[in-house]
Amino acid sequence: MVKTNRREFLQIVAQGTGLAACSGLGLLGLARGARSQSWAPRPPGAAEDFANLCMKCGLCVKACPYDTLKLAKLGDRAPLGTPFFEPRDVPCYMCQDIPCVKVCPSGALKRDLDDIKKARMGIAVIDPSSCLSWQGLRCEVCYRDCPVKDEALRLAPHPRELSKHAVFVPVINPNKCTGCGLCTWSCPTQKPAINILDRETFLGHIGDHYRLGWLDDQPHNPAPPKLPRTKEEETRPAGADFLNNMEDPI
Ligand code: SF4
Ligand code: SF4
Ligand code: SF4
Repeated sequence: MVKTNRREFLQIVAQGTGLAACSGLGLLGLARGARSQSWAPRPPGAAEDFANLCMKCGLCVKACPYDTLKLAKLGDRAPLGTPFFEPRDVPCYMCQDIPCVKVCPSGALKRDLDDIKKARMGIAVIDPSSCLSWQGLRCEVCYRDCPVKDEALRLAPHPRELSKHAVFVPVINPNKCTGCGLCTWSCPTQKPAINILDRETFLGHIGDHYRLGWLDDQPHNPAPPKLPRTKEEETRPAGADFLNNMEDPI
């Protein structure tokens, strides 16, 4: 853990306040413009009202052993003075002890994040048109580098449509992806075929009235209560599942 004395702390807070004052003196429009147009991943554990809570003190930046985090300057794709990271440059290495969260004095990074696998910094999204695997080549580099492989990122067979052989393609599970960006960092294409996006913007919501009977473990999808069966229902022969159980008539 990084130690910061009182003087140093006040200095950093003053820097943050200075930045805020600058933005009030004419740069505000620019900062606002950047905020509305772009998004960049935050440190782990960022609260919903991060923008209001963050004091721009930079203590999380200082605590990060990999220099992942930086405070946004003018022109960066995060609001001025706030911590963010560029996964293609330096991803989050998902420290087990989460030092960036521990030093946050304002609650902008929530200390109840006790397992880095529960962090949701963003979501990995694949562009199949530039992904080597989706295009039919062997790659799978992102899969091998994912710290939550087989949970957040798995390989699924996919028909190659060029020959009889299938290929394996990366597929993301939004419920497990932390948004660490290691996949973006390691993707060998010229511009990464896998990128970290804002979960809020990218993810949809299926609607609570839909029931996916084959996914009973989904939180939004509780199984209906089992009703007692009548004697007639118990003795009635089971109906035929024509789609799955009947023999192919051809
Ligand atoms: S978890 Fe570790 S690598 Fe990731 S931002 Fe925090 S200190 Fe940096
Ligand atoms: S590393 Fe990039 S090109 Fe390779 S499988 Fe992953 S997304 Fe596709
Ligand atoms: S961002 Fe990429 S590397 Fe990180 S957990 Fe998600 S799929 Fe894995």
